Amino acid sequence: MCTTSDPGAAGSAPGERFAEGATELSTGRRSLLKVAGAGGLGLAFSTALSDPALADPALARTAAAPRRTRRRAYVLVVDGCRPDEIDSGLMPNLHALREGGRHFPRASSLPIMETLPNHVMMMTGVRPDRSGVPANEVYDRVLGDTRKLDRARDIRVDTVINRMNRQGFRTGTVLSKEYLYGIFGARATHRWEPAPLIPITDHAPDHFTTEAALAMVEAFDPHLVFVNFGDVDRVGHSDLTGGSVQLLRRAALAATDLQVGRFIRMLKETGRWDRSLVLVLADHSMDWSLPHRVISLSGPLGEDPVLAGQVAVAQNGGADLLYWTGPASGRARGVARMLELARGTTGVLAAHDRARTPGLRLGPEAGDVVVYCRAGWRFSDPNVVANPISGNHGHPATRPIPFFLAGGHPAVRRGSSSVRATTVDVAPTLADFFGLRGAPKGGGWDGASRLG
Ligand SMILES: [Zn+2]
Repeated sequence: MCTTSDPGAAGSAPGERFAEGATELSTGRRSLLKVAGAGGLGLAFSTALSDPALADPALARTAAAPRRTRRRAYVLVVDGCRPDEIDSGLMPNLHALREGGRHFPRASSLPIMETLPNHVMMMTGVRPDRSGVPANEVYDRVLGDTRKLDRARDIRVDTVINRMNRQGFRTGTVLSKEYLYGIFGARATHRWEPAPLIPITDHAPDHFTTEAALAMVEAFDPHLVFVNFGDVDRVGHSDLTGGSVQLLRRAALAATDLQVGRFIRMLKETGRWDRSLVLVLADHSMDWSLPHRVISLSGPLGEDPVLAGQVAVAQNGGADLLYWTGPASGRARGVARMLELARGTTGVLAAHDRARTPGLRLGPEAGDVVVYCRAGWRFSDPNVVANPISGNHGHPATRPIPFFLAGGHPAVRRGSSSVRATTVDVAPTLADFFGLRGAPKGGGWDGASRLG
């Protein structure tokens, strides 16, 4: 899920990630710049002073030779937006951007169709079996509990942000959600610090996010800015009017579209548009369940004689991840029993033996069995009241996403493409645009540039 925090998850208490940032500030590893936004809004940005990477003399040399290119790239993620919503009449700015750029109508999110894994795929260019981030919520075998993957070290591989930094480019992150802020950590040269504005919340409204993105460009002009707009997703989760009326959702679509429009207008008014790539996409879409269409697997699994006391469930809205926690000798039997029970449960679309389903590209962090619900259903674990909200994602119904390249740079082609673009294509597209050297170790990019 995107918006609910889990206060019971050990090691992920709100504020911990911000505390890490505050420590960096107090120890002089980061500088804090306060910028006045529109209407007197106070914005805070941190900037790396002594990035550990720069302690490497070779890296210090590249840092001392900053790139002079005038190219700019902006990755704008409209969290949880469905592709059809761009055509709803409520998003005229996004519609115009899409129609004037390179549109990929067959684009999709990748398993698990959740926020963290898909943002990580965007910035690493590799699938979760390599990145180590398959879902929002996992069972941490070392911790012995479920937790969010919201720590900077949870990403096990290089990111295009770090790759750009090492090659002399400036980067910036403007991430509206606490756990996105947490997992991307101090990687970017410049990072919006939402903490002074909204302590102990997990999401900044898009108005603030846009102010931060505008101020980030004005103050630092990074070559790459990675922005997450969270309102559409947040409202999608909490809109209790459900899939038929969606009054709040429609209001959020219109409001977020206005904010994106402000950002694009700034690019045009400051002369950046003609040298920019603007990549707009969602991390996943959204599906609404009826109140009685709730699946809770923890009870049946916990009461089963084969599985009792030897199974853990990490709930991800439209997907449940099941982990065998008993002795290795019992694992095969346990997995078989999990598959049998899950497949026999009403509302379940499919249950996969993760290790025997290589096409999922999910590593061991995703557990032993991956269970998807049908459209119009949701998971609620550890009990039926744990997930009361109708809007969810993570299951195949939430795969389709908007994905288009805009911007006035000549490298951006126009028209529609039948290619099935995905979230993992973002990093190789950026690498192509900036002419970055190298590719991820152990197999190169899992995605492809969509400039061509
Ligand atoms: Zn999301």
